[in-house]
Amino acid sequence: MMYFDPLWLVFAIPGLLLGLYAQIKLSATYGKYMRVGAESGLSGAQAARRILDQAGLQEVPIAEVPGHLTDHYDPRNRTLFLSSANFNERSLSAVGVAAHEAGHALQHQAAYAPLNLRMKMVPVTQFASTAYSLIALAGMFLMGGHRIAGPMFQNMIWVAVGLFTVVTVFQIITLPVEFDASRRAKEQLFRLGIVRPDESVAIGKVLNTAALTYVAAMISSVMQLLYLISLGRNRR
Ligand SMILES: [Zn+2]
Repeated sequence: MMYFDPLWLVFAIPGLLLGLYAQIKLSATYGKYMRVGAESGLSGAQAARRILDQAGLQEVPIAEVPGHLTDHYDPRNRTLFLSSANFNERSLSAVGVAAHEAGHALQHQAAYAPLNLRMKMVPVTQFASTAYSLIALAGMFLMGGHRIAGPMFQNMIWVAVGLFTVVTVFQIITLPVEFDASRRAKEQLFRLGIVRPDESVAIGKVLNTAALTYVAAMISSVMQLLYLISLGRNRR
């Protein structure tokens, strides 16, 4: 028998709503400025290339990847990946996102502490996330008969809290990394004359709404963690 706890909804709804709002807002803002061409005439890939080259990062390649907003910087192979639209388009959205990813490469070059910490946390977070999912799945079945699960459940819930704390800390560390990458992006775009002051307002909007999705993910994790803690305490 599966068990569903209505209290879970109370903790989950704020994060879900904010996440939904962030996704809608990002689609709208990104879509809007995807239709506004950058005055410089540079594509996302060209703008990122210029930022990287100016920082002496000529050896960092820029590769095109399929998918929607799949853009990322991979610190393991020091490569910048841009989704096809952001790689090719000559719009403010494409230039903004591409510059943000270049911002991560600048962080890596500067040995920016939160980025280093986040990189070090990746393997342990992947382990914690997988282990947590397995325990949560087992818990959904066990809790149906929690009268018999008793002491075993008691211990498992605190293991789950421990694992999910790792996931949540990772989400929290992601925030300064993302905000700082956007800050570096805007600084370089302006300094290198890739965008005009009036264009940088639009770029700021695109990057801020993208950051909001990370804030929503972080809040969801914190609420989920609080829920797990409340479960553990109630069953003491
Ligand atoms: Zn980023």
